[in-house]
Amino acid sequence: MTERKVLIVYAHQEPKSLNGSLKTIAVEELSELYHPEQFNYGVEAWEACKNGSLSEDLIKEQRKVKEADLVIFQFPLYWFSMPAIMKGWMDRVLVQGFAHDFPQCYDSGLLKNKLALLSFTTGGGKEMYSDEGVSGDIRYLLWPMQHGIMHFCGFSVLAPQICFAPEYATEEERVQMLVSWGERLKTIWEEKPINCAVDGYFK
Ligand SMILES: Cc1cc2nc3c(=O)[nH]c(=O)nc-3n(C[C@H](O)[C@H](O)[C@H](O)COP(=O)(O)OP(=O)(O)OC[C@H]3O[C@@H](n4cnc5c(N)ncnc54)[C@H](O)[C@@H]3O)c2cc1C
Repeated sequence: MTERKVLIVYAHQEPKSLNGSLKTIAVEELSELYHPEQFNYGVEAWEACKNGSLSEDLIKEQRKVKEADLVIFQFPLYWFSMPAIMKGWMDRVLVQGFAHDFPQCYDSGLLKNKLALLSFTTGGGKEMYSDEGVSGDIRYLLWPMQHGIMHFCGFSVLAPQICFAPEYATEEERVQMLVSWGERLKTIWEEKPINCAVDGYFK
């Protein structure tokens, strides 16, 4: 049977309305008949990357990554992670075929020979993010970002720059946070990456 496409333009606020039920029946009935392919974001992005049909804004971002020796991610900590908008950037820019492939991941990830650094601020104080602190060791929440994203894509990861609780700091302490970041950046190219491998990270 030849595959045919059906577009259902559906407009009703309430899924439990009769319109909603009619639409559901149409979707179920027609899907069964024609077995439409399922959308798979990862595969679609990979294909688009391979055939050069990613959208122009993503190609532009990828070009910037390609040209960089060091990528600094600067963000406030949201829910033990990066803000959703930055995570969205990762989902869209660091796609398979550009940042990683199989088996080209971790030490052989496609962005190897580049450095990455997470620079972020927190709401909680440093003592909260210690082993005995209520939030636990900060390295636990860094693991998905540093290992699961950066290292997975091949980046060598530099030690994170963390400004704990700037909102509760004095003006003097905040100025010091800025000064020490500036100082660190002067010699950033001399720094050695941290060990992000499974067997070394939590040691
Ligand atoms: C959705 C959400 C989730 C969150 N989840 C977490 C979480 O899981 N864990 C956690 O710890 N925190 C969490 N937070 C808190 C968040 O991480 C902090 O609010 C954030 O990191 C503070 O950084 P900021 O840049 O926004 O601070 P700001 O409030 O912008 O800055 C702090 C102070 O610094 C001052 N300042 C700015 N520039 C200078 C300068 N040049 N010199 C001197 N002072 C300056 C500002 O005027 C301000 O008074 C969350 C917040 C939100 C909204």
